[in-house]
Formats: sequence, structure tokens, C-alpha cells
Amino acid sequence: MPESDFSEKLKKTGVDILKCMQCGVCSGSCPSGRHMSLNIRKIIKKAYSNDRNILTDKDLWMCTTCYTCQERCPRGIKIVDGVYKIRNVAVREGTMLSEHRKVSHLLLETGHAVPINEETKQKREQLGLNPLPETVSKHPEALDDVKIILKSCKFDELVSSKKE
Ligand code: SF4
Ligand code: SF4
Repeated sequence: MPESDFSEKLKKTGVDILKCMQCGVCSGSCPSGRHMSLNIRKIIKKAYSNDRNILTDKDLWMCTTCYTCQERCPRGIKIVDGVYKIRNVAVREGTMLSEHRKVSHLLLETGHAVPINEETKQKREQLGLNPLPETVSKHPEALDDVKIILKSCKFDELVSSKKE
């Protein structure tokens, strides 16, 4: 089956977007959609229409995966699970947003998608926490292990694609 046959591909993993009746409950409930162009109903429509443009649609990456739409969908469609799966296809085809690629490279280089900064350390101390969390920040010797894990699942190859 071609990677772009989204509706069939998603159905096999328990995400039946063909049940969508385009009611708009998902997009009307979406907190991100109130502040940006994301319209999750249109993303679902593109997916069940097997529209390959979905792979380069920036809105695919604007979902914060809060699950509000999925909880409210009257047809019980696992919308966010579908978003994740379509993103997986997009990444494999090299159409990841440059911002996400940068974050992925930070993870490869530092062990953190968002490395800790001085401001966060101070806030942690004010809360009575150790300024460094129990991660690579506090245990830099673990970075090699993180890199081995990321390499073993070929994460480095996935995010190094030149295509945008
Ligand atoms: S809430 Fe569910 S049925 Fe309604 S448009 Fe969104 S995905 Fe389709
Ligand atoms: S999971 Fe994504 S699409 Fe759904 S409501 Fe939250 S931000 Fe919107």
C-alpha cells in the first residue's frame, strides 16, 4: 500500500477517519485553532481524501496534542493518534518542519529537545528543587547512552533528511 493511502493505513491501526462526518466539533474545540491557522477538521478531511499535500501542510505540526478534539469527537475517532501517524509518514518522507528538525538535532546533541537555561535553573531553585533535573543536565555522562538509543532506532537518520 502506498504511504499516501492514509485512510486505509490509519484504519489498520485503529484510527478510522472514514467515520468522520465533518461536524466540526474537533476544530471548534481546539485551543490551538483559536490562535493559529490549524483547522483539525480540514486535516482529517485531507487525510481521508488521501491528499498528499497533507505531508507538507504546516498545520499538521501546529497541533499540541492536547487531546481535546479526540475526547469530544462524536464518532469516537482517535484524531490525535492519526495526527501522530501522519507526522510519522511526513518525517519518513523528509517533510518535517525546519523548527522540529532543529529541536530534534538539539535532542541528538544535548539529550534534551529544550536544554535547560539559567532562568529555568533559578526557577527550579525558587521552588525548592535541585537546579538540575535528573536528566543528562545533571548526568552528562548519560549523553552517550542517549545517543546510542537514538541511533539504534535510526532517529538520527530520520531527522537528518535534506528535504523540507
Ligand atoms: S469531531 Fe470527529 S466527526 Fe466531527 S469533524 Fe472532527 S473528526 Fe470528524
Ligand atoms: S489535540 Fe491538537 S487538534 Fe486536537 S484540540 Fe488539541 S491542539 Fe487541537
